[in-house]
Amino acid sequence: MKKLAVLGATGSIGDSTLAVAKLHPELFDVKLLSAASNANKMANLCLTHNVNFAYMFEPQANAELAKLLAQASTQVLVTEAEYLACIASDEVDTVMAAIVGAAGLMPTLAAVEAGKTVLLANKEALVMSGALFMQSAERSGAQILPVDSEHNAIFQCLPPECQRQLGYCSLQQHGISHLILTGSGGPFLTKPLAEFNNITPELAVKHPNWSMGPKISVDSATMMNKGLEYIEAKRLFNTEKSEIQVLIHPQSVIHSMVQYCDGSVLAQLGQPDMRTPIAHVMQYPERIRSGVQGLDFNQISQLTFVEPDFARYPCLKLAIDACYSGQAATTVLNAANEVAVQRFLDGDIAFTDIAELVTQSLDGRNCETSQLDIEGILALDKESRRHALSWTSSTKAWSI
Ligand code: NAD
Ligand code: MG
Repeated sequence: MKKLAVLGATGSIGDSTLAVAKLHPELFDVKLLSAASNANKMANLCLTHNVNFAYMFEPQANAELAKLLAQASTQVLVTEAEYLACIASDEVDTVMAAIVGAAGLMPTLAAVEAGKTVLLANKEALVMSGALFMQSAERSGAQILPVDSEHNAIFQCLPPECQRQLGYCSLQQHGISHLILTGSGGPFLTKPLAEFNNITPELAVKHPNWSMGPKISVDSATMMNKGLEYIEAKRLFNTEKSEIQVLIHPQSVIHSMVQYCDGSVLAQLGQPDMRTPIAHVMQYPERIRSGVQGLDFNQISQLTFVEPDFARYPCLKLAIDACYSGQAATTVLNAANEVAVQRFLDGDIAFTDIAELVTQSLDGRNCETSQLDIEGILALDKESRRHALSWTSSTKAWSI
């Protein structure tokens, strides 16, 4: 039986993970749940899944959770140190990393450093720490399994040896020509560019195919999500620039592909439902039911493909460029984007300001530092956030 921790348990990926776990009570023992602030939802989850340990990032919510669970068998961990120690302890062997954003870095790294099986949804953790994250996994023997649907699709289409050597396998030596990362293009694929100034948060979070948390939904609308996934793919699959291509596929039926040197293309197809990749990694290499219906090809009238247009999706270009400018650039890009997306969701800046803010955050920075250590990454993340908060929409400039 797997001893499962779900970090980010109250979110969209958390929900899907616990739904799959519930289908297989003989396979998964839910040991630890964490989340940011929704104590009521967390208390219900702890009772439903008979959870041993729980922790909420916001102290007030954690205290509330302790009250709600006073009569229950769940132990509410008091400090962050206890929480990180629990992730690394023998109580847990498999960790679903599903916290949104940079907040997920330290708990995810705790799981990696302790050699756990890490089911990685939290792409921002990998984007901001890059080589350090993968080297840590290599050192500890942690198995990283990609949850992001595109990376999971590519993983499924790779030869077993590449699956085992994630992060350092040579694609070329395994007859792979390149990876094709597909993306739907989000809700604004055909919207006239002249109307982009009127995009509201409500419109931006309405993804045509997937149901997801607010941050990744906005990232999908700007295609920063595909940019972060580009960086994620480079780290996970050790790609050269010529070995990765982004392709818009509006129907989200093909979740990504691997092109081989003999002309073969392997693709993974399925419903746009995260329970499929989640079930795949939860019991890898065995297959288990996910609760998702198979595809009905009679209902699929067409599969279409378009090259991405960087004028429509400047964030995609920013991320691809950052990917080749060194670790510091991807750390700054991620931090500036997280702040920009939150400010857009709060009604503080316009949709088109997201790319502008990220561009200005990267401009004039020397990102060609040699590899950053964890303290360097956290300091750069913090400084970039502070800077991004001081950007003013009306003047398109820094206020300090
Ligand atoms: P969400 O907003 O629905 O959920 C985020 C979760 O993180 C919540 O449980 C929240 O409480 C928790 N959280 C936030 N800050 C925290 C903190 N400091 N400590 C502990 N928990 C904290 O987001 P989501 O859509 O589930 O996405 C989660 C991650 O998975 C993101 O990195 C996203 O990019 C990635 N992902 C999501 C999808 C999807 O379909 N939703 C697909 C691929 C990848
Ligand atoms: Mg994805």
